[in-house]
Amino acid sequence: MSMTSAPEQAGYPGPAANRTGGAPWPPGAGMNGKATAVSDAARRLGVLPYPDLDYTAEVAAATQHLYDKVSDVIPAIEWPVHAPYVFHINRLKMTRNAVILAHNYQTPEIYFGVADIVGDSLQLAQEAARSDAEIIVQCGVHFMAETSKLLCPDKTVLIPDLKAGCSLAASITGEDVRALRETYPGVPVVAYVNTSADVKAEVNICCTSSNAVEIVESLDASKVIFLPDRYLAQWVASQTDVEIIAWHGACEVHERFTGEELRAYRQADPSIRIIAHPECPQDVIAEADFTGSTAKMIGWVKDNHPPKVLMVTECSMADNVASETPDVDFVKPCNLCPHMKRIQLPKILDALVYLTGEVTIDPLMAEKARASVERMVNLKS
Ligand code: SF4
Repeated sequence: MSMTSAPEQAGYPGPAANRTGGAPWPPGAGMNGKATAVSDAARRLGVLPYPDLDYTAEVAAATQHLYDKVSDVIPAIEWPVHAPYVFHINRLKMTRNAVILAHNYQTPEIYFGVADIVGDSLQLAQEAARSDAEIIVQCGVHFMAETSKLLCPDKTVLIPDLKAGCSLAASITGEDVRALRETYPGVPVVAYVNTSADVKAEVNICCTSSNAVEIVESLDASKVIFLPDRYLAQWVASQTDVEIIAWHGACEVHERFTGEELRAYRQADPSIRIIAHPECPQDVIAEADFTGSTAKMIGWVKDNHPPKVLMVTECSMADNVASETPDVDFVKPCNLCPHMKRIQLPKILDALVYLTGEVTIDPLMAEKARASVERMVNLKS
């Protein structure tokens, strides 16, 4: 195994400190019943009346079974705030023939209250493509909504907040990839799915954190450019003989964990099991009992039922898994993703009423980006 750093070696600037998303975000999304502009989707499909948000007996009764799923993590006093949104969002989904996709990092009231499909970004897009819904509401970040649009080009894809970006996706552009190709002619490029469509359009193939090693080795090359996450690249390099040339991106959530922090948890309770996402730095992964994607982390907890577990990833995922595994005691060092947390019930309701936040991709770019995703999917199947 070996790894070099493309930005340092080639003199590239690396991630821009002030970028907040993978694409420029147009303003104007509606907010809590106050739409500021009529979207193209609304022109095509029409807006609906904004519902009354009283916590009535009907709302309480209709949402009780959903509250039962989250009662361990949402205090009863908070439910009357969430319940009217949950009630009307679930009604409007049927009116609109819409499906709600929620990433594992969404908060429990979204994950259990209104989502139809939950999972990691690729699982969500693949499941959405199988659904008959005309509208997809993506509760996640912008590159995830783009991936859904790539795999479901004929559906209307909405994201409740167009400013929900990602530090990884924002660290690199398609132009950066073209410059890398000039510096390393003939070296194939693998892009983690946490990239914009602009980047996906320029690479040979995409990968997820579950299949990154398999994808790199499938290229039959002695050297591969792997982007944009430098920590995932380090982890891949530790698992393969292929030389990895890495970009300098990082997830601002996983990068904050430290090995020292984890050692302190283990010293306090030696029985604790630590499971980490491969976007974490190497000293964190060295302390983990298991390293894997969000889906693999969830599977590990459900398969092993450890008495006490520390999930080294975004904080809401531990809340969601805890609701499904009440026999496991979760220790939650709470690193929240500020981009994921832009998605909230009032904005989801706005998206369904006013059809705000439509995600579109230039058709030529979409064709090339879709091919990179499909090469990965075809390799997996
Ligand atoms: S958790 Fe990290 S990788 Fe995921 S959306 Fe947030 S910044 Fe991006």
